[in-house]
Amino acid sequence: MPEPRFRSSSFKKVNRITIKGRNVIHYKRGRNSAPHCAICSTELNGINISEKGGKSRRSNSRLFGGVLCSSCTANVITLGSRIENGDMKLDDISIKQRKFVMQLVAH
Ligand SMILES: [Zn+2]
Repeated sequence: MPEPRFRSSSFKKVNRITIKGRNVIHYKRGRNSAPHCAICSTELNGINISEKGGKSRRSNSRLFGGVLCSSCTANVITLGSRIENGDMKLDDISIKQRKFVMQLVAH
Protein backbone atom coordinates (compact mmCIF):
# COMPACT_ATOMS: atom_id res chain seq x y z
CA MET A 1 0.00 0.00 0.00
CA PRO A 2 1.41 3.41 -0.92
CA GLU A 3 2.06 6.02 1.73
CA PRO A 4 -0.96 8.25 2.43
CA ARG A 5 0.67 11.23 0.72
CA PHE A 6 0.99 9.26 -2.55
CA ARG A 7 -2.64 8.05 -2.63
CA SER A 8 -3.78 11.13 -4.56
CA SER A 9 -4.67 10.58 -8.21
CA SER A 10 -2.47 13.53 -9.17
CA PHE A 11 0.59 11.29 -8.66
CA LYS A 12 1.71 9.11 -11.55
CA LYS A 13 3.34 5.75 -10.80
CA VAL A 14 6.74 5.19 -12.44
CA ASN A 15 8.35 1.73 -12.27
CA ARG A 16 12.14 1.88 -11.80
CA ILE A 17 14.82 -0.78 -11.40
CA THR A 18 17.54 0.06 -8.88
CA ILE A 19 21.25 -0.69 -9.41
CA LYS A 20 20.90 -3.81 -7.27
CA GLY A 21 18.03 -5.04 -9.47
CA ARG A 22 15.13 -4.29 -7.11
CA ASN A 23 11.84 -3.18 -8.66
CA VAL A 24 10.57 -0.03 -6.95
CA ILE A 25 7.70 2.35 -7.61
CA HIS A 26 8.47 6.05 -7.78
CA TYR A 27 5.74 8.68 -7.69
CA LYS A 28 5.75 11.74 -9.95
CA ARG A 29 3.33 14.63 -10.06
CA GLY A 30 1.48 14.88 -13.37
CA ARG A 31 1.43 18.17 -15.25
CA ASN A 32 -1.77 20.18 -15.56
CA SER A 33 -3.45 19.93 -18.95
CA ALA A 34 -3.89 23.05 -21.08
CA PRO A 35 -7.20 24.90 -20.61
CA HIS A 36 -9.89 24.30 -23.24
CA CYS A 37 -12.88 26.28 -24.53
CA ALA A 38 -16.13 25.50 -22.68
CA ILE A 39 -18.18 25.40 -25.92
CA CYS A 40 -16.02 23.93 -28.71
CA SER A 41 -13.28 22.40 -26.45
CA THR A 42 -10.35 23.65 -28.53
CA GLU A 43 -7.17 24.58 -26.69
CA LEU A 44 -7.23 28.20 -25.54
CA ASN A 45 -4.70 30.61 -27.06
CA GLY A 46 -2.68 33.18 -25.15
CA ILE A 47 -2.30 31.07 -22.01
CA ASN A 48 0.99 29.41 -21.13
CA ILE A 49 0.55 27.06 -18.16
CA SER A 50 4.28 26.50 -17.69
CA GLU A 51 5.06 30.21 -17.50
CA LYS A 52 5.12 31.87 -14.12
CA GLY A 53 4.24 35.51 -13.65
CA GLY A 54 1.41 37.92 -13.10
CA LYS A 55 -2.28 37.26 -13.65
CA SER A 56 -2.21 38.82 -17.14
CA ARG A 57 0.33 36.18 -18.25
CA ARG A 58 -1.79 33.32 -16.97
CA SER A 59 -5.15 34.40 -18.43
CA ASN A 60 -6.80 36.63 -21.01
CA SER A 61 -8.28 39.87 -19.70
CA ARG A 62 -11.07 40.06 -22.28
CA LEU A 63 -14.71 39.01 -21.82
CA PHE A 64 -14.91 35.26 -20.96
CA GLY A 65 -11.08 35.20 -21.07
CA GLY A 66 -9.70 31.84 -19.91
CA VAL A 67 -13.12 30.20 -20.43
CA LEU A 68 -14.11 30.63 -24.09
CA CYS A 69 -12.00 30.87 -27.26
CA SER A 70 -12.11 34.09 -29.30
CA SER A 71 -14.50 32.82 -32.02
CA CYS A 72 -16.99 31.41 -29.50
CA THR A 73 -16.84 34.71 -27.55
CA ALA A 74 -17.66 36.57 -30.78
CA ASN A 75 -20.62 34.24 -31.42
CA VAL A 76 -21.93 34.72 -27.86
CA ILE A 77 -21.70 38.51 -28.15
CA THR A 78 -23.65 38.59 -31.45
CA LEU A 79 -26.30 36.24 -30.04
CA GLY A 80 -26.59 38.41 -26.92
CA SER A 81 -27.21 41.56 -28.95
CA ARG A 82 -29.79 39.77 -31.10
CA ILE A 83 -31.69 38.69 -27.99
CA GLU A 84 -31.56 42.19 -26.51
CA ASN A 85 -32.99 43.60 -29.75
CA GLY A 86 -35.72 40.92 -29.85
CA ASP A 87 -34.61 39.32 -33.14
CA MET A 88 -34.06 35.92 -31.49
CA LYS A 89 -35.37 34.03 -28.47
CA LEU A 90 -33.30 32.17 -25.85
CA ASP A 91 -34.85 28.87 -26.99
CA ASP A 92 -33.24 29.26 -30.44
CA ILE A 93 -29.72 29.06 -28.96
CA SER A 94 -27.90 25.81 -28.17
CA ILE A 95 -27.69 24.86 -24.49
CA LYS A 96 -23.90 25.25 -24.28
CA GLN A 97 -24.06 28.83 -25.60
CA ARG A 98 -27.20 29.76 -23.62
CA LYS A 99 -25.40 29.87 -20.26
CA PHE A 100 -22.90 32.46 -21.49
CA VAL A 101 -25.48 34.51 -23.42
CA MET A 102 -27.60 34.77 -20.26
CA GLN A 103 -24.53 36.00 -18.34
CA LEU A 104 -23.90 38.63 -21.01
CA VAL A 105 -27.52 39.83 -21.14
CA ALA A 106 -27.77 40.05 -17.34
CA HIS A 107 -25.05 42.74 -17.21
ZN1 LIG B 1 -14.65 27.78 -28.60
